Formats: sequence, structure tokens, C-alpha cells
Amino acid sequence: MSVNLTNPFVLIFLCGTAATFLINHFLEFIDFRSRVKNGGRIPDLLQKIPLAAETFDTEKLKNISAYEDAKYFKWCISSVLTTILDLALVIFGFYPFVFNFICGLTGFPSTIGNSFFSFLLFTFITFIPSFILALPFSLYDEFVLEKKFGFSNMTWKLWIIDTIKSMILGLILMSLLTFIAAVAFVKFATSWWFILAAILIAFTFIMQVVYPKFIAPLFNKFSPLEDGEAKEKIMSILDKVGFKNGGLFVMDASKRSGHSNAYFSGFGKTKRIVLYDTLLKSLTPDELAAVLGHELGHFKLHHITKRLFVMIPMEFLVTYLLYKMAHLTGLYNAFGFTNITHQNVASVQFIGIFLASLLWSAVSEIVSPLSNIFSRKQEYQADAFGAQACGTPDHLITGLIKLNSENLSELIPPKLYVFWNYSHPTLVERIEKLKSRNSFAGDSGDINTIRPFEMKNIPLILDVVVPMWSPPVEDMSFRRFYVEHIVRNNFFENDLNFELIENGSFCTSAFFARKTDICKADEWYALESRKYPENLLTSTKIGKAYIELMDKKVRAYMNDDDIQLTLYVSRKKGCGSKLLNELCDRLRNQGWKNLYLWTDCECDWQWYTKHGYELLSEDVYKPFSSEDEDYMTYIFRKKL
Ligand SMILES: [Zn+2]
Repeated sequence: MSVNLTNPFVLIFLCGTAATFLINHFLEFIDFRSRVKNGGRIPDLLQKIPLAAETFDTEKLKNISAYEDAKYFKWCISSVLTTILDLALVIFGFYPFVFNFICGLTGFPSTIGNSFFSFLLFTFITFIPSFILALPFSLYDEFVLEKKFGFSNMTWKLWIIDTIKSMILGLILMSLLTFIAAVAFVKFATSWWFILAAILIAFTFIMQVVYPKFIAPLFNKFSPLEDGEAKEKIMSILDKVGFKNGGLFVMDASKRSGHSNAYFSGFGKTKRIVLYDTLLKSLTPDELAAVLGHELGHFKLHHITKRLFVMIPMEFLVTYLLYKMAHLTGLYNAFGFTNITHQNVASVQFIGIFLASLLWSAVSEIVSPLSNIFSRKQEYQADAFGAQACGTPDHLITGLIKLNSENLSELIPPKLYVFWNYSHPTLVERIEKLKSRNSFAGDSGDINTIRPFEMKNIPLILDVVVPMWSPPVEDMSFRRFYVEHIVRNNFFENDLNFELIENGSFCTSAFFARKTDICKADEWYALESRKYPENLLTSTKIGKAYIELMDKKVRAYMNDDDIQLTLYVSRKKGCGSKLLNELCDRLRNQGWKNLYLWTDCECDWQWYTKHGYELLSEDVYKPFSSEDEDYMTYIFRKKL
């Protein structure tokens, strides 16, 4: 025995390893138990969705449990052996043995050259035992387990090529990083932590560009999406969201595995969305567009960039801690590196970092739920974004059901297991959230639904506004025509027109427009205006001129990522502010920056000042003003 089992560092390592082992086995066991108990059951929510009830039949449920169980049994054996190996390597002094062996070959590290060589050799040799132990398990996974459940299309030839490629790649990257580290240790003995952190951060950013362009193509073929309905649907989503200069690729994942997925990577000009070819086979064009909408959500909501920027201060903190630990001779001595003293510790900081990371991997399980909490939050956000981009959550819901079914993912995992291990919420949680997001509670507390506006509901808007807005003429048909003209001049053919359905009936509508949207009311007007005499039509022209002038004024304030509220009509008093707030939330999530609107003295314009809108201008509109009263117009802005 070459380690001191009562040393605090060794105790942290031993207790951390034991705790990690126990936590994982406990979690996997309760997950297994829950499959035994609930594996044959469809959650109530899914029962109510016809596609889900049909998809998750008895056979599918059995298959899911069998797949998850098979993975569990394999994991149990591999985890016991891995833990025994990890402990044995430390307790029997494998690491100092390797280090002494290398020192015998190259001498004690001192120059950049022999530091680089001995560190690289150390990394390589210490990697061998766990590699050998993991090998049969990964072969079993690929060629037995995954094949049994119909996922793996792997061939021996492909497996050998993959392994060789990734080993060469690993060796190149490892050599590069070890060389940088060797230079940093020798040249910057006291400031290397800062330099190393900066280099690692730069490396992460460079990899965002290098990985999709040069590394991923070594393993897979990336081809553009073929023309067809799927491409059309996808392109319209890309357009809607404003995904410019990015690539959309189909990856030939099926040559290895039948598992399906989609992911978003990179930033700036290298950003790209990758769809597995397996996905294209199983989803309808609408569902594909919805899944893509989800991935676009990650991009539009800056999820990758945010993660990278959270990483920056962390990286400095971690390298600083490593630097501090690498100077503790007690750390080396605890693990059996007996000849390390204050005099020579600076030359072997690499070993110190290795030991610190050994400690870290023993205790890191305890913080692993943290990053999962953030990840699940972002997944919900991306789901909401995808549903909005499609105008309905339905396609995303059916898409997720199919993906879940094909990947044989568990339907009812225990809550604690999900909290600890899941980077994505469960299928049921995601559907629940998608359904509830599409409805919200109005002022009265009823459950209301927001959906894209349907043109057939224009008469319902007219019922509300004709009494308020129409000119005092006898001809009821003309009055409706006059008001419909106003409504249509505020309607832009885009995906930003909403209606609120309350208890099944139409209640409120809100229309929005981008700065560049064009109104197409003229065609309708040309057709409908023929029914009325010229003297009546004059009033419609005056109304249109007024709207156009005001819209122009508003748009002069707007940028491309601002949005204008062009019409807001409610059949019922009271749903106002809550609906508008809910819509503002959604627009903010879509990336819009400011909301603009204009109104005039005939409306309740003070409402906006009372509700946090900023008054930008207050003008007299001459044509509507009389001698003793000015007709006032107002332009408002709200930051979203
Ligand atoms: Zn996602």
C-alpha cells in the first residue's frame, strides 16, 4: 500500500468515490423499481392524446422497459468494476509508479522538451487501464445491446475506422494541449493559471468553428436538405425567425445508429442546424419544422453563447484553484509521490493538476444536477419558441411523442432521477408546459387560449368596433364596410396576428407588424368599394390617409427588431392588460426589442401612460381638428 489512507486528500477521494457510487446506484435502482411498477402504464396526459395512446401500446411499453433494464444491468456491472479499478489504481500506487517509470526514461521534468514528453507519456499510460476496462462494455453496447433493440447499424469495419480516427484525433489535441501546458509551466511558473485559462477559453471558441467544419465531417457526411415539402416548411420557419447565413444540414447518422436527434451548434457565420437523417424518416414535414423551430429557439435565445460566457469566469477560477493545489506538496505525498518537495514541486505541477482532477471527478457528482437544472430550463424555452414559430404547439407535441417512442425513452422516470440526471425535461413535462403555455388565465381567472388570428373572425371584430368607429350614415352595410377598411389597413399578412379564445368563443384580437411589413388591403378595397357611391367613399380615403401617415411616423422610430401593435380589439372589458402582457412575453421570447403603437384622443390613450408605456410624441392632426378643439395623436413605446 503506497497511499496514506488517513490523509485528508485521500479521504476526500475515497469518500467522494464511495458517495458517487452510492448516489448513482440509488438513483438507478429507484429508476429500475419505478419501471417495474409503472413500466406498463401510460401517463394520463398521454392517454388523452390519440397519437400517444396509439404509439405507446403494450408492446411498445414492454420494449421501452426491456431496453432501459438491459442498459441498467450492463451499467451495474461496469460501474462496480470501474469503481474498483479507480480505487485500486490509487490505493496500489499505480500513478506514482508510472511517474517514476517515466522519470527513469526522461529524467525529472525540467525543460519544456522533457516536461512535454513526460506529461504526454503520463497521460497516455494512465489512460490505458480504464480504456481497456471500458472496451468490452462499449463493444457489448454497440454490437449486442443496441443491435438487439434495432438501433445499431454499426459494422466492425466502421467501428475500427471510427476508433482509429478518434484516437489519432485525441492524440493530436492532447499533444497540442500538453505542449501548451508544458510551455506555460516552465516559462510562467507563477502566472500559468491565467495564461492557461485564456488559452483554454480561446480553444473552446476555436473548436466551435473547427469542430463542425473539420472534425465532424471526418465521421459523418453532411448534406443539404433535399427539395420537397419538408424543405419548404423548414425554409418558411427559418425565414420567419430570421436565421440568416447559417447552414442547415442532414447528417447520415443512420449508418451507425437508429437514434434520432437534431442539434444546433456554432455561432456567427459558422452556426448550423444539423438534422439526423433518421429524423427525416420518422417525422412529417410539419413536425420536422417544429423540431427545427425548437433548435432555432436555442439559437435565437443565445443558449450556446450564454453557456460559453458563463464558462469564462469559471475557467479562470478553476485554473487558479488548480494552480493553488498544484503547489501543495501534501497532495502529492498523499497519493504516493514521495519525492516531491517545495524545491521541485514547480516542475511537476502537471501531476498536481492530474491529482486535483482525480479529486474533482470523485466529488463532482454532487454538483451535476446544477447544470441539468439550467439545461432543462433552456429546453422549455426552446420548446416555447418552436411552438410559437409554428403558430401552434401541436406539431412539436406529436414530433416529441414520435421521437420519444423511437428512442425508447422512459415515460415515467422518478422525479428525483429526472432532477439529478435529465438534461431535458420528460416527454410528459414538455407536453404539459407546451399545452399550458398556449393558454393563460385571463383577468377573470378563466383559462384562455391564444392562437393565430383567423380571417373568418373579422365580422366578430366588426361587431365590436362598428358602433364606435363608423361614420354617422344610415347605410348599415356601408358602415361595416368603412370599419372593415380600417381594420384591414391595420392587418398585415404575417404570423403576428393573434386572437384570444375565451371559453371556446372569440374574445379579443391583436395585430402586430414588423417595420417592413406591407399592407395588402388595396386589393380587397378595389373589389368591395364598387358597391358604394363615390361621395361615400371619400370618407374611407380620408381614414386611410390618416392611418398611413401615423404608421409612417411610428415606423420612423422603429428598428428592424422592433414591432408595432397595429390593432387591438376586445369584445369584453377586462381581458386587456393580461393578454397584452402575455403577448409581450411571447414577443420578447421571439427576440423583439420594443413595442410601438399609435393612438388618438378618441381612444383611452391615458391607459398606456398608466401601464408603463413611454410617450414619444404628442401631435395635432389638422384634418380632424376643429377651431376650438385640437385632434391629438400619440405615439407610445414599450421596451419588451
Ligand atoms: Zn433542445
